[in-house]
Amino acid sequence: MTQPCPHCGSRHVVYGNHGRRVGGAVGTVAGAFSGATASSSSGARMGMKAGAAGGPVGVGAGAVLGAIAGALAGCVAGLQLGKVVDQQVICSHLCLDCQSRF
Ligand SMILES: [Zn+2]
Repeated sequence: MTQPCPHCGSRHVVYGNHGRRVGGAVGTVAGAFSGATASSSSGARMGMKAGAAGGPVGVGAGAVLGAIAGALAGCVAGLQLGKVVDQQVICSHLCLDCQSRF
């Protein structure tokens, strides 16, 4: 996974997953939000349908389940997006010898 520094040739290189970490966190929050609020969200719809049998309390529980399902889906999507950002956009390698990023 690590490649030698293009500036000094050192192999003392660390790889940071900043994009993946940020993407996962943002995706989790966005997924939970959309899962709990959006009526078009499949997670909330499934949860509310399952919870409707239990009355208003069931619908509330269904919304929570939808939020959890949405958070999981959002986290996975965010991780995938962050991975791409890491690879394509962010200079995720840091050379420990010359401090250059690449
Ligand atoms: Zn270097």
